[in-house]
Amino acid sequence: MVELRLQNVSKEYVVESKTTFALQDINLKINKRESVAIVGPSGCGKTTLIRMIAGLEKPTSGQIFLQGKPLLGPDPKIMMVFQNFALLPWKNVVENIELGLLDKPENERAEMIRKYLDVVGMEGFEENYPRDMSSGMKQRVGIARALCREPDILVMDEPFSSLDQLTARNLQSEILRFYHSRKLKPDVLMLVTHNVQEAVFMGDRVIVLSQRPGHVKADMIIELERPRNIRDRKFQDYVDEIVSLIT
Ligand code: ADP
Ligand code: MG
Repeated sequence: MVELRLQNVSKEYVVESKTTFALQDINLKINKRESVAIVGPSGCGKTTLIRMIAGLEKPTSGQIFLQGKPLLGPDPKIMMVFQNFALLPWKNVVENIELGLLDKPENERAEMIRKYLDVVGMEGFEENYPRDMSSGMKQRVGIARALCREPDILVMDEPFSSLDQLTARNLQSEILRFYHSRKLKPDVLMLVTHNVQEAVFMGDRVIVLSQRPGHVKADMIIELERPRNIRDRKFQDYVDEIVSLIT
């Protein structure tokens, strides 16, 4: 079943009468239960693409359909995790997560927060402020805030790029374990990254974007067992193939 469809989506930015063509004619169908990684060189339009899918930017031309209906703006069915966590420094962990739930009754909020703090392994840190947390912890909060809306689609823009390698790999494994357990939403995982190894580790499918203006250069199914082993020969073959497409 098609969850998300992009039809001839292009995006240009005009700043002081200078036009930047960020993305050109993107056509994609994303199915239910797919985990999709989007890779491409820096500046090729990855953030632009994922922000359009999250309803935070509008295509200059073309259309995006969510479950068959045109996507016209932010939708609670699609939640985003940001590269720089986007936490408010003057709010503690609970208050930051609560920001995503202000339309829910208070008792329901508390329950959701407890549930998703547990999912991301942040119980016991309820009162902490961002200044007292590592990058990994901050991103766990960012993920909890997105997950607690129980979105059908979770989109993540370079969510691990400011974490050290070990922290990033741990968090990636945890997210995959959670996603594959199928106990809770989301149905679709979308990840933008410039890190090819991360894309092959996370994605059932890897979409390779060209240099700016980004268009779909390759769309590959990654046929590797899970959990994936980055030292596996076949894993490395996928990485090599994608790297050669990008460079
Ligand atoms: P990536 O995430 O792949 O590095 P971006 O989507 O951030 O790429 O940017 C793609 C291109 O669009 C870049 O050339 C960038 O400078 C430009 N761009 C992105 N956002 C804006 C904006 N708000 N205004 C003007 N240009 C932008
Ligand atoms: Mg980016």
